[in-house]
Amino acid sequence: MRIILFGSPGVGKGTQAKILSTHLNIPHISTGDILRIAVKEQTPLGIKAQEAMNNGELVSDDIMIGIIKDTLESDKCRNGFILDGFPRTQVQAQAIDDLFAEMNIHNFYVITLQANEKEIINRLSNRRACKVCKNIFSLDDIKKLDKCPACNAENSFYLRSDDKEEVIKHRLEVFKKETQPVLKHYEAKKKVIYIDAVGSVEEVTKRILIALKEIAPDKITISV
Ligand SMILES: [Zn+2]
Repeated sequence: MRIILFGSPGVGKGTQAKILSTHLNIPHISTGDILRIAVKEQTPLGIKAQEAMNNGELVSDDIMIGIIKDTLESDKCRNGFILDGFPRTQVQAQAIDDLFAEMNIHNFYVITLQANEKEIINRLSNRRACKVCKNIFSLDDIKKLDKCPACNAENSFYLRSDDKEEVIKHRLEVFKKETQPVLKHYEAKKKVIYIDAVGSVEEVTKRILIALKEIAPDKITISV
């Protein structure tokens, strides 16, 4: 099963991607992660990406598409993948269309997690990061703790500047502006599955699996 996972910052995309990856037995391909790996392994495209970043430039769509291609063609993606973090613009969506056509990929789903702005602001402003191990926790889970449950650091929790309300609002605005055309692009191809992402992690996972089961009953063998 091939999935493009879509959703605004704070909607729980990373969490759902990890869970779906386990349930569906397909890898979670986060473009942030594969970029870091390509740079670390100094692949030809990783070297180019690093040059761009060293010059303070964004990694171009061409380089990113190349890194995605290398990954999707690798053995671990032979049964499918969950692509997360790309495409974010219409130009990128077109580039993914071209790549999929080249790779003979025609069946894929664009799962879009949705939550209203208030819910997202609430969620993100209730996150705290550990400045030592960088793990992120819900304020509810750590408010009675004076040590990080992951690394035992003391008094290490802080609100990331990314998670401050004004910054969140700005990120949501940017996301909306950039990604609406992408969704329209996939809607025209009848690829989009909208999922209500308000609720517990388990509830949201269940909604996604039920929706996938309706579309591809043969591919979802677990009971939901
Ligand atoms: Zn920690």
